[in-house]
Amino acid sequence: MSVAELLGHASSTLAVTSDSAHADAQILLAHVLQRDRAWLIAHSEEPVSPERMAEFEALAKRRSSGEPIAYILGWAGFYGRVFAVNNAVLIPRPETELLVDEALEFLRARGKEHPHALDIGTGSGAVACTLAAEVATVQVDATDASARALDVAEINADRIGVAQRCRFLHGDLAEPVRGRRYDVIVANLPYVPTADIPPRPDPVSFEPRSALDGGPDGLDLYRRHAPDLMALLAPNAIALLEAGPDNIDALAAIIAHAVPDAHIELQRDYSNLPRYIRVQA
Ligand code: GLN
Repeated sequence: MSVAELLGHASSTLAVTSDSAHADAQILLAHVLQRDRAWLIAHSEEPVSPERMAEFEALAKRRSSGEPIAYILGWAGFYGRVFAVNNAVLIPRPETELLVDEALEFLRARGKEHPHALDIGTGSGAVACTLAAEVATVQVDATDASARALDVAEINADRIGVAQRCRFLHGDLAEPVRGRRYDVIVANLPYVPTADIPPRPDPVSFEPRSALDGGPDGLDLYRRHAPDLMALLAPNAIALLEAGPDNIDALAAIIAHAVPDAHIELQRDYSNLPRYIRVQA
C-alpha cells in the first residue's frame, strides 16, 4: 500500500474514537517511518513495506482503543521541550504553561542568587524541569508519591540537562521537604472529581488515576496539603496551584483559610478558563 492509501484506510478506522483521526494517522506513520509529516505529504505515492505497515497498524490499533498519542510515541511537548512520558505520569497539558510563565516571571524578578522552587506532585517533571531549564540559578525540589513517576521525571531532567539542579523526592505531597522554605511553590495535584473521570475509550482514562482523582469534589489532596503550605513559603514567596474551572473557587477558599492574610488571585489559562490560584504569603 502507498502512504496515501495507508493513511486513508487508517483515518477511517481511527475516526471511530478520535476526532483528529487524520492527524493521528499521520503522526503515527511519520513515527514508524522516522520521517516528518511534510515528508508524508510529499511522498504520498511511496509504497510502505509490509514490516512498516504491520508496525503502523499495531500503533493505530492502540490509538483506536483510545490510548493517547503521547503514550504511544513515548513523549509529549511542553513549553517548547520534549518530555518522556509513559502511563505512570499525567501527560503535560498546555493549560499548565501559563502557570509556568508566572513562576518564571516571579523567579526572575525575585533577583535572588539561588532561588528555591518546589513542585509538589511532579509527575513527568515537566514543570520542575522547565523551571530549572529556564532559570539557570534556580534549585528545584520535586516530590511525588509514585516511584514510577519519579523515574520518568529523572530521565527528563537528565535529557534536558538540569539534573544537577533538580532533586526528586519520593513521598506524600510535601512530606519529604518538611522544614524547608521556598520562593516559589507550584502544584498540579490531582483535582478531577472522582465522578468526572471519563471511562474508556476516553484518552484521559488511560492516565494514572492517582494523578487525576481528587475525591468527591476533586480537592481532597489540596485539602490535605493546605495546612503545610504556609510553613513552606519563604517571606514574600508565592504558590501557584492548579485546579479545574469548577473547583478553583473552592480551592481558593481552602487556601485562604489555611494561609490567613495571603493575597489570593485567580488566574486564567489559554482558553480563558480560571485554572490556577496565585497565593502570595
Ligand atoms: N487537567 C487535567 C484534566 O482535566 C487534570 C489534571 C489534574 O488532575 N491535575 O484531565
